[in-house]
Amino acid sequence: MFWCQGIVIKTKPMKEADRIVVLYTKERGKLGTVAKGSRRPNNRLASLVQPFTKGRFLLSDPTSGLKDISQGIIIESNQDLREDLLKLAATNYFLELVDSSVETEDPDLEVYQSLLLGLKLIKLATDLELSLRYLEYRLLSVLGWNLQMQNCTSCGKDLMKEDDLKFSPVQGGLTCVECRFGDEISLSVKTRAVLLSFDRLQPKALIKLKLDKKDKDELEKILRNAWDARIEKKPKTYLFWKEVSSLENSNSGKDLQA
Ligand SMILES: [Zn+2]
Repeated sequence: MFWCQGIVIKTKPMKEADRIVVLYTKERGKLGTVAKGSRRPNNRLASLVQPFTKGRFLLSDPTSGLKDISQGIIIESNQDLREDLLKLAATNYFLELVDSSVETEDPDLEVYQSLLLGLKLIKLATDLELSLRYLEYRLLSVLGWNLQMQNCTSCGKDLMKEDDLKFSPVQGGLTCVECRFGDEISLSVKTRAVLLSFDRLQPKALIKLKLDKKDKDELEKILRNAWDARIEKKPKTYLFWKEVSSLENSNSGKDLQA
């Protein structure tokens, strides 16, 4: 048995009363676990294994297969992320990116810290869409997939003075006219500047970034395509996020007209 600190990144029902619980832990990275009986009413593990909960977990250490969660302590329930539909959708998407880009039992403290930062940022965000863009960008960097936004990814040519900018998702950065790869997306000088600013920007300064819809659409296109080129499956949770966020936008539009 061993203790570790981590976040519940997803859960799935198993048999009549159990749950499969995927954790990302500080000490061991991503772990598949089982919370036996946790779907029974009043089970002592039930609240511990809610999605997004940060806690300390006591796990069995079998030689193979899933570990059992035998007990634990909630450090932060993150209930507010589950109760707000938009935040729930944004968090599920962010966690799916983490889940699909890390291997099991391959601990990485930077990934763990990015997870904690992500939950905090989504919790406090005034602009969830922009926060997701920032998290997508930072997570790529933490995983070693930094986007190359200053030089051509192929020949290294300095593109800081260029204004005809093209981004290749497969190459993970800009390409010059001579090195175009065929999958490029155009981007404005402003979008490039925003992406470069994400490297040094403190998350709390995100609020100062003023972007119009066109800028946001361009950022989304670049980052979503960059992610899709890195992971096998397109994240399903992204479609859900798009659905609820577009619903929210059309509702707030109605409020303004009323
Ligand atoms: Zn080039």
